[in-house]
Amino acid sequence: KPRTKYVGNLLKSRLNTRIRTLLSDIGNAGDTLGMEIFVVGGFVRDLMLERPIEDVDVVVEGDGIVFARYFSSIHHCRFHQHRKFNTAVIIFEDGFKVDVASARLEYYATPAALPVVENSSIKMDLARRDFTINTLAISLNAESFGTLIDYFGGVRDIKDKIIRIIHNLSFIEDPTRIFRAIKFSNRFGFRIGKVTANLIKNALNVGAVKHLSGLRVLSELKQIFSEDNPLPAVQTMADYGIDKVIHHDLKLTDTTCALFRSVGKTLAWHDLLYSDDVYPRWSVYFMAWLHGYSFTVSTQIADRLMFPIKEKELLLEQRIKAAQQIRLIEKKHPVSNQQMYRWLIHFKTECLLFMLALTKKESVRKAISHFYTHQRKTQPLIGGKDLKSLGITPGPVYSTILNKIIDEKLDGKLNTMEEEIKFAKEYAFENKLI
Ligand code: ATP
Repeated sequence: KPRTKYVGNLLKSRLNTRIRTLLSDIGNAGDTLGMEIFVVGGFVRDLMLERPIEDVDVVVEGDGIVFARYFSSIHHCRFHQHRKFNTAVIIFEDGFKVDVASARLEYYATPAALPVVENSSIKMDLARRDFTINTLAISLNAESFGTLIDYFGGVRDIKDKIIRIIHNLSFIEDPTRIFRAIKFSNRFGFRIGKVTANLIKNALNVGAVKHLSGLRVLSELKQIFSEDNPLPAVQTMADYGIDKVIHHDLKLTDTTCALFRSVGKTLAWHDLLYSDDVYPRWSVYFMAWLHGYSFTVSTQIADRLMFPIKEKELLLEQRIKAAQQIRLIEKKHPVSNQQMYRWLIHFKTECLLFMLALTKKESVRKAISHFYTHQRKTQPLIGGKDLKSLGITPGPVYSTILNKIIDEKLDGKLNTMEEEIKFAKEYAFENKLI
């Protein structure tokens, strides 16, 4: 029997009207179809932790696809089904999504063979999950709306700030849970329970992570590196010796830790000022993690993790180029705006951020952030067409002229189209192009 608790007040105080209405609409649709329906997992965990709620995941006792089809028809939204897993996604007009999973009703014949006993399938669905904190469900059917259901002690573990698995073979069954335990422990500031920690060590000893496919490890690492501050997680991974399993040369040094802190500060600065310039956050931390390793070792790590070709290029070639470039800038600084522009213009945002994190020289940091803020988007307002209408014959000279215009603009000159045209005309005239 589960522990239950009424959390309707929490739903009222913590959720906006839209989500509250959505939850009761879901419950009502469940009632119409005669299906028990629950909101589960991360939603409930984050509700209890008073953290922002991102996804709505529901589980129906019955066929989730039937539920999604019915709900979509009465609320005028779209839905996608995955027959293979008996799951569906309800998609609202503005893109908001609700994931629907099916907990199949299971019937057991009693010894007397006649009546059939219906097992509580939500319990079995929750029992398959990773940690107790992810096993909470809240009933959405009208009669029991707002009843929290706790089969595995998740409420207590949230209160005690502890990550615990549900059964002893959990990490053997799915070794990615080792990374998930570390991710959640870091994100919430929870400790990993003693038994759970020992089971992680056992799983590592029998080669669970060693045999995990690169793709799966990579996906988990990307998630860890996307967290607000991945450093404690990286330290925990090192404590368990997980980095060594990925590559025997990986060793977390004080330099790497300091670089992680520096990346953290850089990203905080960037995201505050330029929230609309999105970049893969994980990649900056990944570059920091691999910083200092040779091309050969980095290649072996990238291959072990089955990096897609584009990302591999970023982590190997771009990262090494960025590190060399920053050393050169540090040596030659101060240089002209034009030189800085030519050095930096081909680097992606994530590489520029990595360079900012790498340098210890305040004046260099200032120069790069000046480039990022004021010069990166520098483009001529005129183009080939304008040059053609000035009577200049098309050819490589076009890019020469446009580059000269950029040079001028980098010094704050040529602010209007007219000024640029005048400049181009004079240049063409002086060089006998017209
Ligand atoms: P996040 O906030 O990072 O999105 P989450 O727990 O809300 O975390 P998912 O990682 O998408 O989101 O997982 C959704 C649910 O599925 C989890 O709450 C967990 O119960 C279950 N789950 C996910 N991965 C596993 C796994 N490897 N083993 C068991 N259960 C898992």
